[in-house]
Amino acid sequence: MMKILFLDQSGKPGGAELCLLDIAKTYRDNCLVGLFADGAFKELLEQQQIPVQVLTNQAIKVSKESSLIQGLSSLSQITPLISKVIKISRNYDLIYANTQKALVVGAIANLFTNRPLIYHLHDILSLDHFSKTNRQLAVTLANRFASLVIANSQATKTAFLEAGGNPEITQVVYNGFTSKNYDIDESKVHQIRQNLEIEQQFVIGHFSRLSPWKGQHILIEALTHCPENVTAILVGDALFGEEDYVQQLHKQVAELGLEKRVKFLGFQADIVPLMKACDLITHTSISPEPFGRVIVEAMLCRKPVIAAKAGGAIELVEHQTTGWLVTPGNSLELAEIINHCRQHPELCQTVAQQAQILASQRFELTKINQQISQLLIGVMSCDEERKRLRKEILTAEQRR
Ligand code: UDP
Repeated sequence: MMKILFLDQSGKPGGAELCLLDIAKTYRDNCLVGLFADGAFKELLEQQQIPVQVLTNQAIKVSKESSLIQGLSSLSQITPLISKVIKISRNYDLIYANTQKALVVGAIANLFTNRPLIYHLHDILSLDHFSKTNRQLAVTLANRFASLVIANSQATKTAFLEAGGNPEITQVVYNGFTSKNYDIDESKVHQIRQNLEIEQQFVIGHFSRLSPWKGQHILIEALTHCPENVTAILVGDALFGEEDYVQQLHKQVAELGLEKRVKFLGFQADIVPLMKACDLITHTSISPEPFGRVIVEAMLCRKPVIAAKAGGAIELVEHQTTGWLVTPGNSLELAEIINHCRQHPELCQTVAQQAQILASQRFELTKINQQISQLLIGVMSCDEERKRLRKEILTAEQRR
């Protein structure tokens, strides 16, 4: 079995990390996950018996706005990390970079060790989220050093190609999910609703880290256009320094007098029972979502879902068949669909049922992991072929 060195810059469990967790499980006897920061993600990997090592204790500072000069100076900060990765990667067959900074380090390691590099791209490389320099850096490094780019949706792939990415090395693979994990005993649900004092309410769930582009404020705004018994639970926390936004959300709730109708539940490691306690799940990102794990998770929980019509969400939801799509940032339209769902519970149930069946087929983890494994095997065999040819050429030259 091939040995893989996975690299990820984050110590926190965002969507990209949760996706990696599911991929790395398959390789737990032959892999190492190298992280560039300590945190709860490391614990999740350990719980799954996946070998993990934090490779640096120095925070890597590359902001969205960073320029090339700042980028280069941060490169000098990470020299010890790079040397470590080069050394470790000699014991592995493949380097699998799961984030942008991991790509930078992985590309340099590839240069020194010749281990094939895979880049799993979880971001839409648009100027909403990346500086021009960082976007260019990602594309240039991927084109020059990666043997394969795995895009987490067609939308992610399109943005990568538009930024100059090489289509020949780019493949779309969706995130995988174990559908039976979302099919839990629902006896706890009543208790949860009781504890949260939402038994008599129509409960809307929002499951996302708190961040301006995730658009929790849009849902809060939408509540003002819904009857009093419509309540929202916001599950998630500011993961990447968005504390100002959290303050803003609390202020918005207070100003609109919605204290009783909006509950901030913070980050929850097990979202399934809470999703089950909701009547409806909303996804309200105001910039295109690269994939949108929560949308699939809502479907697998058999809950109707309303998602913002952009990016990967369009590939996940078929409007009115497996959920609803609304214009990103439009709270009035969101409220209209919420009210429509509230008034048509049977329709919602049918849609949620259909979505559950389709999602459990389309995104089944074993199937997705097989796709990834096939791609990695392909990379390895190309690499062996390349090495064999190089050897042949060298021997022929020596004979001459
Ligand atoms: N999530 C979680 N606990 C929370 C909030 C979110 O475990 O309190 C999970 C959520 O279930 C999903 C992931 O975090 O699997 C977020 O992935 P998504 O693709 O929706 O967004 P990203 O964070 O990657 O932008």
